[in-house]
Amino acid sequence: MGCTTGAKIFKDEQILVVFKNKDFRVKNHSDQLSFEHSHAFGVRGVNLRSKKAAGFSIGVNRHNLVAVNSNILATSDSPYDLLTERIILEAKAVEEAIDICKEEVHGRTDYQWCNMVIATPDQLIAIELTSSELASEQSDDYMVRTNHHLILETTEAIIKADPVKDRLNIDHSVYRFNESVKTLKDASNVEDIRFLLRSHNKAAICRHGLSSFQDHSYTTVYSYFILINFGKNPKIVFNVARGPPCQSSFIKFNLEFPLTSQNNEQVKRYYPV
Ligand SMILES: [Zn+2]
Repeated sequence: MGCTTGAKIFKDEQILVVFKNKDFRVKNHSDQLSFEHSHAFGVRGVNLRSKKAAGFSIGVNRHNLVAVNSNILATSDSPYDLLTERIILEAKAVEEAIDICKEEVHGRTDYQWCNMVIATPDQLIAIELTSSELASEQSDDYMVRTNHHLILETTEAIIKADPVKDRLNIDHSVYRFNESVKTLKDASNVEDIRFLLRSHNKAAICRHGLSSFQDHSYTTVYSYFILINFGKNPKIVFNVARGPPCQSSFIKFNLEFPLTSQNNEQVKRYYPV
């Protein structure tokens, strides 16, 4: 799986945006949503080994905490979406998210390798995980993660798993990381992020075989961005486009916590599946 994830805080506008382009090897994939919790909303991920829905791949809670993840290596361990779900259900601040990860990684469960970007209106972190290691980076401006680690030294181990395919995946991941950083560094509004999610340069952020890079095996099956306005008129807007976002429109839903059945019905009715 290849995914581009990141976050940016627009301080003057008092807006936080967290995004994820979800890239799969299959073209037709329908995401499943979670409506089990009134204080959190999440899109379910897929266990890359069992292909079954598991945990959250992107979600937000009533404390304005958003978490997204991206795959590094699908081992036989537990899917990291379960860890992301626990963070979204329990954490009120990024420090608590780090504590949960430390507790899990050094404790009871081994997880597949991943990156997570976790954001609140005043702090952004990236957490890098293997089944036994954890590293983190903090920022109050922007954060990006794709499908390689920046702090943990795992590249050789990943390439060992599949020398040709994984080298290509890492090269593509590095390209998407660099393109995203370039955009986020100077982004002045949410339109710049929407543009990034739809962009096609040498190696596209929007993926469906239109880049000159030798990787036509992935398709962006969903594009997401969650916008949190933490100013005078606070609101959470969940934006989703199904299929490559350069070809489809973003649909938006206002999320008001606690979520009501009316709110859930509206999402169920218009969510693109
Ligand atoms: Zn496209």
